[in-house]
Amino acid sequence: MCQVRETYNQSRMKQYQPERIYVDPAVTDEPVTQYTLRQVPGIPVVYFQSREQLAELYASDTTLTEGKKQLVLTRHPGKFLKGCQGCTSSRVHCNYFTVTYATNCHLECTYCILQAYLNNPFMRVYVNVTDLLEELDAVFSQNPQGIYRVGTGELSDSLGLDHLTGISRWLIPFFGGRKNAVLELKTKTDNVANLLDMPANRNSVISWSINTATISSREEWKTATLEEKFEAARRCADHGYPLAFHFDPLVRYDNWEADYRALVDSVFDRFDPEQIAWLSLGALRFHKELRDVIRWRFPRSEILNGEIVRGTDSKYQYFKPIRVEMYARMLEWIRQHSSSTTVYLCMESQDVYRNVFNWTPSLRGDLGKYMDQGVLLTIRAPHDCGLQNVDCGMKISKQIRGCHCANRKYLGVNPWAEDRRRGRS
Ligand code: SF4
Repeated sequence: MCQVRETYNQSRMKQYQPERIYVDPAVTDEPVTQYTLRQVPGIPVVYFQSREQLAELYASDTTLTEGKKQLVLTRHPGKFLKGCQGCTSSRVHCNYFTVTYATNCHLECTYCILQAYLNNPFMRVYVNVTDLLEELDAVFSQNPQGIYRVGTGELSDSLGLDHLTGISRWLIPFFGGRKNAVLELKTKTDNVANLLDMPANRNSVISWSINTATISSREEWKTATLEEKFEAARRCADHGYPLAFHFDPLVRYDNWEADYRALVDSVFDRFDPEQIAWLSLGALRFHKELRDVIRWRFPRSEILNGEIVRGTDSKYQYFKPIRVEMYARMLEWIRQHSSSTTVYLCMESQDVYRNVFNWTPSLRGDLGKYMDQGVLLTIRAPHDCGLQNVDCGMKISKQIRGCHCANRKYLGVNPWAEDRRRGRS
């Protein structure tokens, strides 16, 4: 067991505090800059006079460990909204969109892709949030028939810096009430104070990546513990936010079956399926570059052990039958609690989908449509099932799922809900 994690295990999760802040001259007057600086009295602040100084900082030989202690407030140079880059052409794409409000993360998961992906080691926040909201408003308005599932957790933890930046205070009200967009704030923290300090809305799903105690204590050095995450999720659910959970990365080790089954049970022991917008499963995967970084930064990590092979898209992952077995077992345990909760696989092939769900989505299209249907259920008012003028005598669900009557069929066939009938679970 690594010493750093032992230290963090003994107390509640520590919120990020930078040792120094650099301010790009282009963002000195931005509201998020001013807000952030008010949260960190006493921390040294360097106001750059030119963007060349920023470029020099990025080009310095600062290590990743040191860079994470320094926060750069700067401007996003281009479009914020992008299609998710996670899936290569051979993986089933779910039509997810990402917004990069920040890059890098201080939580130090051994398996974190950012260690091998980012081009500088600093914690960087793009504070021109009004530009971001203008861009999103234009995109959502131009295509009112489209459904946009948007996450901010691709290149940073969605809430890791929120106590400093307060960006959730801009994003959540913006998404509230939108008919065609849902925000996902994905985190491994319990940093939800801002979320609880404003009205919740159905368009803002708060999600947690969770793992077994074995993996979390060994491979996730500075994240909140599972109980801390659940406590934060409970408070968000009680406040009115839909929840989601990501079982990711699934890691194979001696006692994985008992531990992951207990993890699934612990989710459903604490939360009603009606409160869960979706669940995802993702087996451990990484590139060669990341493997080398893990060996160098975390020499005692055991994450690289196991039957890991190189896939056709150069990603290392468990041998396919192992992944299928792990997903199928997880799905079986989930379905013992809920026959209809949306479950999907992150970055997996059609072949694996077929073996796990007995259903083969197209590479682009089917899974996105299915997820979009789940989003409509999430953001609609509970009584608004789309069957206008029909008194179906429905039972109204508690939070997010719409009615529990046969009329839900209007949303189309839910291939996941068919798992049981097909004998899969
Ligand atoms: S929480 Fe996510 S982004 Fe942060 S270190 Fe862990 S894997 Fe990386």
